[in-house]
Amino acid sequence: MTATDTSNDLDAELRQIAEIARPTARQGELADYIPALRDEDPDCFGLGLVDMDGTEHMVGDVDRPFAIQSISKVFALVLAMQRADRAEGVKKELWGRVGVEPSGDPFNSLVQLEHEQGVPRNPMINAGALVVDDILADHCGDARRELHDLVNELVGEEVALDDKVVHAEGNTGSRNRAMANLMLSFGNLDNSVDDVLDVYIYQCALTMTVRQLARASRFLANDGVDPATGRQILRPPLARRVNAIMLTCGTYDAAGEFAFDVGLPCKSGVAGAIMGVVPDRYGVAVWSPPLDPSGNSRAGKVALHELAERRGLSIF
Ligand code: GLN
Repeated sequence: MTATDTSNDLDAELRQIAEIARPTARQGELADYIPALRDEDPDCFGLGLVDMDGTEHMVGDVDRPFAIQSISKVFALVLAMQRADRAEGVKKELWGRVGVEPSGDPFNSLVQLEHEQGVPRNPMINAGALVVDDILADHCGDARRELHDLVNELVGEEVALDDKVVHAEGNTGSRNRAMANLMLSFGNLDNSVDDVLDVYIYQCALTMTVRQLARASRFLANDGVDPATGRQILRPPLARRVNAIMLTCGTYDAAGEFAFDVGLPCKSGVAGAIMGVVPDRYGVAVWSPPLDPSGNSRAGKVALHELAERRGLSIF
């Protein structure tokens, strides 16, 4: 898009993109490990962009909340990076205990973790997010509250916690528990497995809408400054690093495909949402619950591809 494009052009184009992307959801599958995901309406579809002035371009189910699931890993990392920026020791700890390489493995894989002595490849896979949460548990008075407050701030309103998701995730989190135990055995967890999982499950169960996710990612498109408030959430080089991690690791073992087909920093979650960043331009979000085999929203990926392609938004 160029600066001369009008809102009407963009809104009409978003509607066209929705028409193209929505039917492809039928090629995906709903996550089925908890009722909230299993029972979701597979036909829901929402796509939204918020520009740096706060103008919102929205199409479809953009005000219907869903659990943000793995998208929360971005917010947890941001909180940890804020802490790390204030204390050299925390910075060393953070980047000594979790890497920044794509995993090439599913988000909940245990295999690599065993091979690599309990140091997760990156903070966007489950094991990496558990380490980040462990660090938050050590350095925040109340990690859950501070994470929730950060999300509220980025959205500009209170987001809700889905207690049913908290409960269901607690009952089905055996693999996450296994990962946490494995890391504990390698000395890469300080707090108890239960305490770390409490933080992780809480962040996964925060609920947001497409509109709210698109608002929340804008600071990453704006050198770390929240355009709504002018507050520096992260210093510019740190905001860029979050984008780099989202681009290379945010969509699990499909990160290469996303870089190729979309070309934007993105983070997906198992509820079928994807949050994206268009540097200097927009916060973006899309939601369509059915997933492809790599755990990313099937229609969401198509929508982001169409959007980036038509508007020339790829960062490459
Ligand atoms: N709650 C999910 C899990 O821990 C989150 C994973 C995801 O969204 N990909 O397995």
